[in-house]
Amino acid sequence: MRKFGLIGHPVSHSKSPQIHGAAYQDLGVTAEYVAFDIPEDNLAKAIEIMKVNGFEGLNVTIPHKVKIMEYLDTVGEDATLIGAVNTIVKEGDRLVGRNTDADGYMESLLGALRQSTLANSNVLVIGAGGAARAVVYGLTKHDANITIANRTLHKAEQLAMLFSSANVETVTIAEAEKQLAKFDIVINTSSVGMYPDVTNQPIDVTFLAMEALVSDLIYNPLETQLIKAAKQRGNPVLTGVEMFVNQAALSIFHWTGLTANREKMKAEVLKHL
Ligand code: NAP
Repeated sequence: MRKFGLIGHPVSHSKSPQIHGAAYQDLGVTAEYVAFDIPEDNLAKAIEIMKVNGFEGLNVTIPHKVKIMEYLDTVGEDATLIGAVNTIVKEGDRLVGRNTDADGYMESLLGALRQSTLANSNVLVIGAGGAARAVVYGLTKHDANITIANRTLHKAEQLAMLFSSANVETVTIAEAEKQLAKFDIVINTSSVGMYPDVTNQPIDVTFLAMEALVSDLIYNPLETQLIKAAKQRGNPVLTGVEMFVNQAALSIFHWTGLTANREKMKAEVLKHL
């Protein structure tokens, strides 16, 4: 029996055990995937338990994605640039930190757009937290022109500074609303609209171009108020489920070298939302 898992606090709401379970079953891999609720002061112990009990990999979720780096032997390039680890891979005796959020998100975005590059695309990113770091990093790898808008502007500015060699600027949310017509893609990485505050919307989409794609990282609810408003106008949309599935599938690839069936994983998570 191969062993994988998740550490976070809390983890009771997580759908990761379900999608990982569906993926291993489909791949014919005999594995268990356990969610561990680990408070921050128990992180070192959690890592010890992983080593001693034969775990080959762990996912890491809120609030440990940054702190966990202190306990790893190496942190890969993506995770270093994003500043967070969401996947630990046991390579021999070494624990290696990786981040599959950026590639997982870009796989979903480029799939929805049916494009392989974002050169010449004007992208508005709303939010400047951990998820925004992964998304902005992914967008810079695909040459997008990026504008970050955040409730707290100085956090957007700090994020932009991390990627100062790329084409990244910052605006207030109010300014972003005024400039909305120029964006080809609008991505909500903020938690505005997430359950239980499902009637909240991070930006007014009245002046959005009709062909612009609206993407929300939130997947609970599956259709946020932002996604509903964009759909009502006829804009193409992308929900957070695809990113959730893809980042998990990429973790499985790191651990097993196998390509998980995204459609089966998505069907499983939709059953539980
Ligand atoms: P985070 O680090 O806590 O960042 C939260 C962001 O939301 C910040 O930019 C914050 O702005 C903004 N925000 C929060 N409440 C707000 C409000 N009332 N009005 C305006 N802005 C507000 O969280 P995170 O880790 O980046 O996660 C953000 C969202 O992405 C969550 O809903 C999470 O579920 C989702 N997510 C989805 C996936 C996926 O696989 N689909 C992966 C990762 C994250 P300030 O800077 O002003 O506080």
